[in-house]
Amino acid sequence: MKKDNMLRKGIGFLLSNVLKKEPLLLVMVILCVLLTLASSILFVYIPSYAVAMIDGNSAVPFLTNLIWITIAYVSVSMICSGVQGGRGMRQLYIGRNLLYSLFLRRLNARYEYTESDTGQKAYEKARQVCLWGADIRQLLEGLMSLIVCVASFAIYASLLSRLAPWLILVMVGLSGLNYITLNGTQRANDRRMDEQAAEMRKYFYLINTFQNTKIGKDIRLYNMNDWLCTVMDKSLCRLRKIHNRFQTRILASRAVAISTALLRDGIAYSYLIYQACNHNITIGEFVLYFGMINQLTGFVSACIQSYGTLRLGCKGISAVSDYFTETEELAHDCQDSSALDSTSNVSIELRDVCFSYDGCHNVLDHIDLKIEAGEKVALVGTNGAGKTTLVKLLCGLYTPQSGQLLLNGQPAEEMTFSQRVERIGAVFQGCLILPYSIAENVSMKPYEETDILQVEDCLKRVGLYEAVCQFPSGLQTQMTRAVDEGGIELSGGQQQKLLMARMLYRRDASLWLLDEPTAALDALAESETYAFFHTLCGERTCIYISHRLASTRFLDRIILLDEGHIAEDGSHEELLRNQGKYAHLFEMQSKYYQEEENANEAS
Ligand code: ADP
Repeated sequence: MKKDNMLRKGIGFLLSNVLKKEPLLLVMVILCVLLTLASSILFVYIPSYAVAMIDGNSAVPFLTNLIWITIAYVSVSMICSGVQGGRGMRQLYIGRNLLYSLFLRRLNARYEYTESDTGQKAYEKARQVCLWGADIRQLLEGLMSLIVCVASFAIYASLLSRLAPWLILVMVGLSGLNYITLNGTQRANDRRMDEQAAEMRKYFYLINTFQNTKIGKDIRLYNMNDWLCTVMDKSLCRLRKIHNRFQTRILASRAVAISTALLRDGIAYSYLIYQACNHNITIGEFVLYFGMINQLTGFVSACIQSYGTLRLGCKGISAVSDYFTETEELAHDCQDSSALDSTSNVSIELRDVCFSYDGCHNVLDHIDLKIEAGEKVALVGTNGAGKTTLVKLLCGLYTPQSGQLLLNGQPAEEMTFSQRVERIGAVFQGCLILPYSIAENVSMKPYEETDILQVEDCLKRVGLYEAVCQFPSGLQTQMTRAVDEGGIELSGGQQQKLLMARMLYRRDASLWLLDEPTAALDALAESETYAFFHTLCGERTCIYISHRLASTRFLDRIILLDEGHIAEDGSHEELLRNQGKYAHLFEMQSKYYQEEENANEAS
């Protein structure tokens, strides 16, 4: 990213958020700049008044001015430190605010992006920035001190120009030269750090290798000591070379920077002394101009430092801004949407669908598949065949890279995500139970929005209602001990029943997707759970997923997925008769389960 682009993006993003969420912080930033400027000017004037009072004929007005100016300086400094304190707190709030917005963005972003490597890295980078707030502080402080530097330079330069305009030109010219050299030094140092970091990585790898007792065995057996020592010596030598090369450059540029600074200060102070000696300026003015020149000379290094701090802050904030831009483009819902017909069951059609996570290897490869409304289908295959990916595609969590997915004959991409998920009841591996009431865990909505009668009905249908009634708070009993020590933990079987109740609660869900919610159970328990789901599903279109073929053999249609292709499609009996991959897998698994059963019986 170009530097100026990064600066513009970082400053623009943070200030627009400050304006929207913490406008008082912006007022404080402006106040801080003005007060810092005022206190610096007052600080320059105080000694000149003091000297003028000692030197002058009538002490009274100078004394009055001195008292006023001192009171003003003390008041401004005190207000300034008060505002600085308040600013710190507001900076913290803006960090928390951004963290919350980031979290919301992630929740609403396309799942595909959130789950991807790029999405996770981008989120983590942005989260760190918002969580620690160091970049927010650096950006604001860098920006403020840069403004103060530039403004004080302009003020002092205009005041000094009354004495000698050419002096400003000399000072600006030499300061510019000083800036170029100091900047060169900083850049050289940055390059040295990069080169050094790469070499240090190799060096520390070697050190860790030597220290690792597990590897020590191999080092001794293969007599690798000499080899490793030579590699380490070479690495140290390269490190020394990098250091020496840059050290010379850094020393040279520092010498130039110091010489230009000396020359600049020498000319300015000599001229001032010359004017004072010739009585062209009073002692009070001498002290005043001396103070101004002193401030001006500190300007260059302060400017470079502020710019560096600002750049660092902008780098972090740009990461947050990038995440927001990226997720905005990947927002879920499309504009011209059509809803899924809520009166009928859902039919599914995949036309030549391909999907890949990395853009190279197709996890789903040219899939053609039709599932009629109300059909009950098993999707089976070994681990990694692409079953979960297909389910996530049906849910709308992923979008096919090519081909088309039709739901009830309508292209899925024309539907909004929310319209689509309203019609889908899906359960995945790992039972999501929240630390809220049982009723909320069934409805997956706040208690006030939950239809309690419907929850009771669903719990009765899955046979969990009586158990729930045993708890002292019934449906309002808190679940899990994650946040409440008194929360209840359901047994594995009860959790499965809760999941079924959750699916039943969604009355409009006419497509059920069961992606191995029973994977943690043994084969027999899974088989029984699937059979129970089957009794509940009624007219809905259902897709059962399992890698245990016995769990789904009772279904009319079984689709075997193999390395992203549909390898076989038919009833359990048909597929066994075909003597293909399904039959082979089924035989192997039956043997394994039989052996396991025998072993269990024996023990
Ligand atoms: P199954 O459900 O049949 O076990 P999956 O659909 O989970 O298979 O995975 C199919 C392939 O895609 C596997 O090779 C898996 O490693 C890969 N895969 C799954 N999820 C991701 C992901 N989020 N990022 C990258 N690759 C993935």
